[in-house]
Amino acid sequence: MKHHLLGLLPGEFASIFKERFSEPGYRASQVLDQFYKQRDPDWESLTSAPKGLRRELAEVFSIELPAIADKRVSADGTRKYLFRLVDGVKVESVLIPEEGRYTVCFSTQAGCALGCRFCATGRGGFKRNLAAYEMTGQVMAIERDLMVRVSNCVAMGQGEPLLNPEESARAFFIFNHKRCFGISSRRLTLSTAGIAPAVRELPGKKIPARLAVSLHSARQEVREKLMPIAARHPLPELKAALRHYTDLTNNRITFEYILLSGVNDSPADARALAGFARGLPAFVNLIPWNRVAGIDFEPPDERAVKAFAGRLGELGLEACVRKEKGSDIAAACGQLTQQCDTEYNIFQRPDGETW
Ligand code: SF4
Repeated sequence: MKHHLLGLLPGEFASIFKERFSEPGYRASQVLDQFYKQRDPDWESLTSAPKGLRRELAEVFSIELPAIADKRVSADGTRKYLFRLVDGVKVESVLIPEEGRYTVCFSTQAGCALGCRFCATGRGGFKRNLAAYEMTGQVMAIERDLMVRVSNCVAMGQGEPLLNPEESARAFFIFNHKRCFGISSRRLTLSTAGIAPAVRELPGKKIPARLAVSLHSARQEVREKLMPIAARHPLPELKAALRHYTDLTNNRITFEYILLSGVNDSPADARALAGFARGLPAFVNLIPWNRVAGIDFEPPDERAVKAFAGRLGELGLEACVRKEKGSDIAAACGQLTQQCDTEYNIFQRPDGETW
């Protein structure tokens, strides 16, 4: 089986190159650097290597990108991509263009096993984990399609990254490496539904990404109803893991909170959320529910959303309401219900940075 260049760090590529080819090591650097400069998945374009070497490289390494099976463009410029992977499995990604930056929300698994009640992905079940090159490939394929450089990547598409931890971590290292995508760790975000034991392990892994946690309720009984995984990792266990993470990394975390009318938007819910966040360097992204056919929740009206955010502020917890993107092409959070049901949470931080 071929190694995929998009799943290798420069040192790994160099050592396989050294093992397989009797060429000087600088050739490996030239090939890798030209590949990431051009982002062209065609060996013939890698002219820094002689023709014969290009042919031999193509026998050992793949540079193929996921195929774009479909795409839709929103009136606000958001683009939703449907990718077909080599085995025919399909996943989706979303590109959000904003002033001076392009954010891609990529998938780490095909489908998802966690079955959150508000999420269309959860209804479709789990298909398989993605390899790191299939994650980085989503981003490069979008860059190729639009001829742009992506500035921010968020692992908030299909799947739970911490249930595919090795490959998800590898993708972040490749996004971050200055000889690969070269994206700052401040512009990379890993989002989890709250796999507490894996959160505890994050500081030791030094993954170059910020952490977001899909909380959606800080009341155990409500959270369990919305997110079955909460029964396995109850809130006290999750909080202890998050405290461990923030103590060791000094990183601020984001809580994602989808607002569902009459379910998690009461004053008691706001108090519970502020109580859960107490002692953690955190802020909250409030995401008013996007309707999905067949899923029986109601979004709160604008006044209720503002009231909830206001209550959090009074309780000393910083919060902002997520900017809606791509709802007209069903690319907004929880809206995708066709072949690749996905929840997309695109964050707008108070300082204007997109997560
Ligand atoms: S919200 Fe995230 S973790 Fe939950 S089912 Fe959807 S994709 Fe999976």
